[in-house]
Amino acid sequence: MSKKIIQDLTKEELASLIKPSFRAKQIYNWIYHKYADSFEEMKNLPKEMREKLDTEYTLMPLKTLTVQNSIDGSRKYLFELYDGHTVEAVLLLMRDKEYHEDGSVKHQERYTVCISSQVGCKVGCAFCLTAKGGFMRNLTAGEITEQLRMIKKDNEIDANRRVNIVYMGMGEPLDNLENVVKSVKIFSDPEGFAIATHRQTISTSGLSAKIEKLGKMELGINLAISLHAVDDELRQQLMPINKAYNIASIITAVKNFPVNDRKRVMFEYLVIKDVNDDISAAKKLLSLLDGIKAKVNLIYFNPYGGTEFKRPSEKDMQKFQEFLTSRGLHCTIRESKGLDISAACGQLREQENEGESNA
Ligand code: SAH
Ligand code: SF4
Repeated sequence: MSKKIIQDLTKEELASLIKPSFRAKQIYNWIYHKYADSFEEMKNLPKEMREKLDTEYTLMPLKTLTVQNSIDGSRKYLFELYDGHTVEAVLLLMRDKEYHEDGSVKHQERYTVCISSQVGCKVGCAFCLTAKGGFMRNLTAGEITEQLRMIKKDNEIDANRRVNIVYMGMGEPLDNLENVVKSVKIFSDPEGFAIATHRQTISTSGLSAKIEKLGKMELGINLAISLHAVDDELRQQLMPINKAYNIASIITAVKNFPVNDRKRVMFEYLVIKDVNDDISAAKKLLSLLDGIKAKVNLIYFNPYGGTEFKRPSEKDMQKFQEFLTSRGLHCTIRESKGLDISAACGQLREQENEGESNA
């Protein structure tokens, strides 16, 4: 790409490049609060500055290819990058807007946006569709944050509205640590998206060394671990990364991770029928998480064409949950939001590819 992505720059970086430095604040305001998509619109900047910026930078690094609406209000986006690769992001409606009887607003909608950090993924989990396409490249910080800006703009979500972010789209965020950390900073900049770090969650397949490194940065971010199995043998079959970083190393890294007083580390447990859904696994999970401020999120395996894995029954999910909660462990079952639009990440991109090859 000939032009650089202006959203790759933190406010401090922008201020060091553009003089006088208060212009950086103005530019940030145009991008993140007014959702500008051209420098031309930035009328309080001198014309020469706008023209110069336009020759060096782009403001529109992503192109929306498709949007799918789910009956539960979730919306799934497929974005094209400058080099033709595609990534997904999902707007999840966590709670509807509600009104008092007199028509005044009781509370606004609650949104969470699920974003991608890489094109593809190197980790190669057996159950994951993103892994099937292999790894292409890391996203830049601006390509990560831009997913949210495009979604906010498209849905007319006011810049000041609170949104939660989960790095649970395509890719392994800790395998792209530098750009992901930069994106966290741009998200949390009061003059950028102003999303507090405790509203951002990084989900990882368990790169223990990187979890330790992230912890030392003291960003205040939430951590989610994709555990999915409680013994190394099974975890290794499902997640080859377990050879390099076994369960014990993950538990140690989590114990060293700074957790916000009001938060818990989330352990994601993808439940696959007849693979990891029996009560003996729940038992082991309980002892594994002993002494950790943890919560468990059980996820229904979301099947796709060609997979040998199956979705568990509702009854088995509830039994698993009941076992844990009755013993004092926080445990939720992830609502299958956007199931009708295959919102488990990687699945929309795959549909599009199939469409192309069938055409
Ligand atoms: N690479 C990171 C973040 C992206 S994956 C990680 O693995 O944590 C986000 C979540 O989606 C992970 O917990 C992953 O296990 C889950 N996932 C992958 N394939 C899925 C499927 N077919 N159905 C349901 N969840 C899936
Ligand atoms: Fe990568 Fe996460 Fe998919 Fe595993 S589950 S292949 S780590 S995106």
